[in-house]
Amino acid sequence: MTTLHTDTVIFAMSKENKPVARAKSGDPVTFETLDCFSNTVKSESDVVSQIDMDHVNPATGPLFIEGALPGDTLKVTIHKITLEERGVVIASPGFGQFANEVTTEETVICQVIGETVSYKGLTLPLRKMIGVIGTAPSGDAVNTGTPDDHGGNMDTTAITEGSILYLPVNTEGALLAMGDVHATMGDGEIMGSGLEIPAVIDVTVDVLKECSYPLPLVETEDKWITIGSRPSMEEATKLALDHMSQLIQDLSDLDFNQAGMLLSLAGDVVASQLVNPNVTMRVELSKAIFEK
Ligand code: CA
Ligand code: CA
Repeated sequence: MTTLHTDTVIFAMSKENKPVARAKSGDPVTFETLDCFSNTVKSESDVVSQIDMDHVNPATGPLFIEGALPGDTLKVTIHKITLEERGVVIASPGFGQFANEVTTEETVICQVIGETVSYKGLTLPLRKMIGVIGTAPSGDAVNTGTPDDHGGNMDTTAITEGSILYLPVNTEGALLAMGDVHATMGDGEIMGSGLEIPAVIDVTVDVLKECSYPLPLVETEDKWITIGSRPSMEEATKLALDHMSQLIQDLSDLDFNQAGMLLSLAGDVVASQLVNPNVTMRVELSKAIFEK
């Protein structure tokens, strides 16, 4: 059993990073993760302006997966996300969709109680998810705050327990890293943070050869989900749609026009996050459609 600890984190995904652990295809691996503030927010008096921005979005890793070569696909099956008991959500001028209207910074600490989160006396359902998860990008290093074609800070609620995430392999070993777990987050991540929380993530890693899936791709129990991260919502949406069109044509006998019409009838376009340096949009489609 391979376990990666929180003393080995990166702040950029890069082919140049030195792996801190190794696994074989099919191995179970555990990633212990810090919260996105490197666990430095201890109380509600700790606000964003006091946080060291050089140590935001730590991703534990990277993990070298033996046999993973450029052009392969890395399949990450997410079995379990175990949370600490409390998380942090913030408001800060310059952050998120109300960046220009927030005048006072504020930190709220929320307790996780069973399958719920207590927020200011309100009870919210627990919606565990991994915010940052990715492999080394094909080109230059990408900081862990930015999502792109290698994954990264996708802040996609579907990346959770029971989901499978398919990522590209751009360098030998893939160099998988992850962090920035949220106990809950609404689609869009409006103020720029979820309920930021340290966690332990149990996954299995598999190297797929000759896999033509458009990446990054999420498979849940009942959905296929393509993900696009680009500077604008329009570009990110188009990328996710192009990828879903490609996936439909791969999974069925439908041609381009017919795949588009299926998307028109049954595909859902959803905002994953609207607050990072690239925004992330996704397209969801029921898997049952393809079951004969
Ligand atoms: Ca994030
Ligand atoms: Ca976060």
